[in-house]
Amino acid sequence: MTRVNTVLGTISAAELGFVAIHEHIGYGMPGCELDSRWWKTPEVRYEETVPKLRKFHENTQPWGAATFVEATGICNGRDIDYYKSLSDKTGVHIVASTGFVGGDTALPFFERASVEYLTDQFVHEITVGIGNTGAKAGIIKVGVSRGFKMKELDKRIYRAAARASRITGAPIFTHLAVDSHPALDIFEEEGLPCHRVLFGHADDGVSQGKIDEKVLLAAGARIGFDTFGYDLELPDPPFWGRHRRERLEHFLRFLREGLVKQVLASADANCSPLGWPGVKGHTVNYLFEQSLPDLREEGIDDAMIDQLFVHNTADFLALQPIGGQ
Ligand SMILES: [Zn+2]
Repeated sequence: MTRVNTVLGTISAAELGFVAIHEHIGYGMPGCELDSRWWKTPEVRYEETVPKLRKFHENTQPWGAATFVEATGICNGRDIDYYKSLSDKTGVHIVASTGFVGGDTALPFFERASVEYLTDQFVHEITVGIGNTGAKAGIIKVGVSRGFKMKELDKRIYRAAARASRITGAPIFTHLAVDSHPALDIFEEEGLPCHRVLFGHADDGVSQGKIDEKVLLAAGARIGFDTFGYDLELPDPPFWGRHRRERLEHFLRFLREGLVKQVLASADANCSPLGWPGVKGHTVNYLFEQSLPDLREEGIDDAMIDQLFVHNTADFLALQPIGGQ
């Protein structure tokens, strides 16, 4: 079975082409849509977003197709009808997420929900659809709330995600790879193999020294180098930024140690940020403008690049239900 849910329908994993595994059309904190300071007209949203997606499509031509995994999830500005129109006009496959960026971005309605309730919500969005859009989510987002420690609600969301992943076969990606022991315990208790989970942002500047890479690797988890481009060399870098060279060397260590199948890379950029100015000059196209040239200069060949952005991603995104449900 090699099917993947995109916002325009279910396709074969072989059709994904080059995949940016963790990106955003727009991401904002819950409620930002109510703040008049940040209201954007549809014209502005399209104007900010379409050229970046067109460029992404153009950059992926050597791979034959482009896939953009939208990592926003519930409550942070997810807008499925908008994604559908963007995908339709630009030709970029867009995979939408169910789940939450972290417990601290779940609105009070979901904050009080049980594991069973959350599981049903995620399963519904993956198998029936999101709202009345007809589009099914293709991946489940979970995360660690601010403070680098998993909170009770985070754990409830992780457990619901593990159950929904087993039932539907959709993979899980996490916001942050810190405090991974409780997460690994939950996945083990729920019988979810860790190759179905991408522990994200393992490359960001603020997580260094706080991630138990050895334990994650031993568990078979995938490690996300998914904040490529948030460089301290930018004129106005974000607090999670890191020196470009340091991130690259960290990534190369994994590749040179033969761990290419356990890593995934992306830029985590926002096409049109919601309720915040975003990070100027950073887009998904950083992958082509900076990351791939940097990797090639270090002797990383096309086969390994294809492994990272085509084969690993297709294998991860393909729906793989467990337990015959
Ligand atoms: Zn993100």
